[in-house]
Amino acid sequence: EAFVTLTVEIQAKSPAISFINSNKGKPLLVADEYTFKLNKATTTTKYWICTINGCAAKVHTDSTNLLMKTVGNHSHLPEKEKLEVREVREKIKQRAINETIPIPRIYDEECAKAMLSTTAIAILPSEREMNSGINKARRAITPIIPTTQVFDIPESFSKTLNKNDFLITDKMITRRQRILLFSTSEQLKMLFAAETVFMDGTFSTCPSMFDQVYTIHAIKYDQCE
Ligand SMILES: [Zn+2]
Repeated sequence: EAFVTLTVEIQAKSPAISFINSNKGKPLLVADEYTFKLNKATTTTKYWICTINGCAAKVHTDSTNLLMKTVGNHSHLPEKEKLEVREVREKIKQRAINETIPIPRIYDEECAKAMLSTTAIAILPSEREMNSGINKARRAITPIIPTTQVFDIPESFSKTLNKNDFLITDKMITRRQRILLFSTSEQLKMLFAAETVFMDGTFSTCPSMFDQVYTIHAIKYDQCE
């Protein structure tokens, strides 16, 4: 008969940490579904404290954000749902900045993709509530609407994503009348081949120094382009 002695070394599992941005763009450390904000940083160490007021839990990382140690215990339960919501919000914001599709559509797509828990859905801000900050982020990278007819058109508005021409005419008709024509060559081919075209002028969406936005639509595959 042989006796086997097993020594079991119990080691406190160190949490995996990651980082996200707060609504205000400040970095937050995430460990085991708890969030920490940066309280103090020295040349070697960053001191993170729990985002819940009065909670004593802390995390120390080195200056490159590697975990050094955790200190103290949380006086509350983890905020899993808040984190889910924060991640969705951040994704929507990044897409709103990097893409030009309407924000309500980004919102719907990202909410569907995130497969949030019912609690998270309950605390998810509505599209309207979320919109103001996200709109601001998008506006910050969209050029301001010029106040006179004389302005340069950035490449992101004059070329397609494939770098083909989109601004096909940019002409002063008289000294004070400028006409801008936007289309891809593919769209022109479609237009010229169409049996029916629709034309419509609108004043309401037009910047004040232009008279009118005029759109021409052609039908293809029974859908208006
Ligand atoms: Zn805490």
